[in-house]
Amino acid sequence: MSLSLLQIAYSSLLPHIKRTPMRKNEATRILLSDETLDHEYLPITGLASFTSAAAKLILGPTSPAVQEQRTVSVQTISGTGANHLGALFLSRFYKWDGAPKIWLSNPTWANHHAIFKNVGIQPVDYPYYDPKTIGLDYDGFISALQTAPERSVFLLHACAHNPTGVDPTQEQWKSVAEVMAVKKHYAFFDSAYQGFASGGLDKDAWAVRYFVERGVALLICQSFAKNAGLYGERVGALHIVSPTREAADRVKSQLSVLQRSEISNPPTYGARLVSLILNDDVLFDEWKKDIQTMSGRIIDMRKELFRILTEELKTPGNWDHIMNQIGMFSFTGINPEQSKALVEKGHIYLTANGRISMAGLNTHNIRYFAENLDKVVRG
Ligand code: PMP
Repeated sequence: MSLSLLQIAYSSLLPHIKRTPMRKNEATRILLSDETLDHEYLPITGLASFTSAAAKLILGPTSPAVQEQRTVSVQTISGTGANHLGALFLSRFYKWDGAPKIWLSNPTWANHHAIFKNVGIQPVDYPYYDPKTIGLDYDGFISALQTAPERSVFLLHACAHNPTGVDPTQEQWKSVAEVMAVKKHYAFFDSAYQGFASGGLDKDAWAVRYFVERGVALLICQSFAKNAGLYGERVGALHIVSPTREAADRVKSQLSVLQRSEISNPPTYGARLVSLILNDDVLFDEWKKDIQTMSGRIIDMRKELFRILTEELKTPGNWDHIMNQIGMFSFTGINPEQSKALVEKGHIYLTANGRISMAGLNTHNIRYFAENLDKVVRG
């Protein structure tokens, strides 16, 4: 297809992406006006300007793991693809003692179970969420880390845990890292919401960076679906941190072999967009502002929901968790019958386990939601 035809084809798509945030439109505009772009394959490991900037985004610009070239970064089919490639890599090359197992938080993103089973790694649960406190089962979590055989692989949500919205505090993360280092466990970090928890990209990468500093063996699955609003473009990366540059070279070679048989070459468009945003100071600043607006709005909704429930409606029970939980999702703590009643009587759609998407609340519907929640809680 000639470039002009391509531009016509793209421009017919533009009206549909008009409502996306400013900096994506700006990045889109720059990308579409670049007449030097073609439809060639990317290298097997992806667009280097994207993967290297993505590594710095999660690991930090001055990370020793990046500067010492111990990190291998491969472009993947968004976060799901990163999880899959990471799981496949471990299934082949991790030195398993016995049958391959991955420890998953209970609960976790439902797809984790399928992704690991697909490559022959058996998922096992570790305690994470405590329904009594609607918060972290810290003791259960630590004791699972302590009693698991040495060199076990634990999946950790880097921030904004899906589905609970419950994250460890920094002090708790430090203890988790300590046990993992002592027991030589492997951390399989899933980072699908960087920027959503605190609004700060660096702050949300704190746990990952701390684990790297502590020398815990790890990999990171990174998704740009949520924080760059690029769900359908499937932009993600897998970063594997190795102890030495030589080990990293071997990891890169094996990852390339796996990637070749899985997808051959990752897609260009979304990676080019994110590369533009991450490598341009002005676009990067605008993106950070967009993320703050988005996460700030979610935090405002948490405050308002908490205020209506506790001050106005005086809904029975403790609602502190609404404020304490982090990110897009919130476990309300209501039971499956109450969730069902919200769906059937209020046409408020949430998962049976009581999880709501805070992003679905706005100034127009929050009172309606709070009043209906109040009704089902009172029975
Ligand atoms: N990990 C977690 C914890 C998620 O919640 C999601 C998306 N819901 C993903 C990974 C993958 O998302 P995607 O493939 O769209 O990047």
